[in-house]
Amino acid sequence: MSARSVEPTIVVHGGAGSWPAAGDVDVEDRRERGVAGCQRAAARGAEILAAGGSALDAVEAAVRVLEDDEAFNAGYGAVLTRDGTVEHDALVVDGLLRAGAVGALPGFAHPIAIARRLLEHGEHVFLVGEGAARFAREEGFVEAAPGALISPRAQARLAAMARSAPRVEAGDTVGACALDGHGRLAAATSTGGTIGKRSGRIGDSPILGAGAFADERLAAFSTTGHGESILRVGLARTAAERVRVGDELDAACRFALAELAERTAGGAGIIAVDPRGHFAHAIHAPAMPWAAVRGGRLESGIDP
Ligand code: ASP
Repeated sequence: MSARSVEPTIVVHGGAGSWPAAGDVDVEDRRERGVAGCQRAAARGAEILAAGGSALDAVEAAVRVLEDDEAFNAGYGAVLTRDGTVEHDALVVDGLLRAGAVGALPGFAHPIAIARRLLEHGEHVFLVGEGAARFAREEGFVEAAPGALISPRAQARLAAMARSAPRVEAGDTVGACALDGHGRLAAATSTGGTIGKRSGRIGDSPILGAGAFADERLAAFSTTGHGESILRVGLARTAAERVRVGDELDAACRFALAELAERTAGGAGIIAVDPRGHFAHAIHAPAMPWAAVRGGRLESGIDP
C-alpha cells in the first residue's frame, strides 16, 4: 500500500464506566453529552488530518477538546483525590514507539500537551508529580489558578463516594487513536484517575502498553476503565500482540478484554486504529461513548 492511498482515520472514547455515574446531578442528558463531546473531539482531530496534519497532532488536539469538557474525567472536571485535589495522568505515543507521559501531575489544564512536549524532547518517557510540573513550567505551560480545574460535578462525585460503601470507581477518562495520510499512527489517553484515589496513585493511563500503545507495524490503542486491572494485564499491549499474530483489530481488542475479564475483577474499554484505517471500539464495562471519522464520515455511539 502506498502511503498516499491511506485514508486518515480518528477514533476517540469518553471513558468506560457508568453513564450516568454516582453523584451526577445532570443524569438525564449525561449519555448525550458524552457522545456529543466525543463527536466534537473526533471532528477536531479529523479537521487536522484532513489538512495534512500528523496523527500525533490529531490525537493531541482531540484529547485537548475532551480535557476542556467538564463532562469528562480529564483536564478541567477531572475526578478528585481523597484530599479533594486534582492529579492528572496522560500519555501520548506514536507508531515509532516515541512516547511522553506524565503522572500525578497537579495544576495544568492540558496534561496531554505536556506529555506531547516530553515526547518531542525525547530524553525521558515518563515524569511524575512535582518533577513533571517543573518540566511543564520550564516549557512555558502556565499553571491553572488554585481550584480552577475542580468542577462542581467532581466535588459532587467525591461526596457521593464518601457516602457509599468503599469501592473503586473509574470512568469518563478520554483517549484517541489516529492514522494520518502518511500512514503514521498515534494514540493518547488522559485522565484524573479514580474517584477518591490516594494522592500519588498512578493508574494505567500514562503507562505505555497499558493505557495506550502504538506500533506502525500493528495498530494504535487507547484504553480506559479500572486502572489497576488494566495494568495487570497490560491491556493495550495484549491487544497489539494479538494483531501481531494475525487477529483482525476488533478480535484483538476483544481478546484483550476477555483476558482482563478472566484474570481480574475490573472493567475496561478499548479503541484502536490500524494502518489500513480500520478502527475498533469494545468494552467489558457498563458503557463507553465513542466517535470516529473516516473518509469524512462521522460515526458515534455509546457501547454496548
Ligand atoms: N483508567 C483510569 C484509571 O484507573 C480511569 C478511567 O479509565 O476512567 O486511572
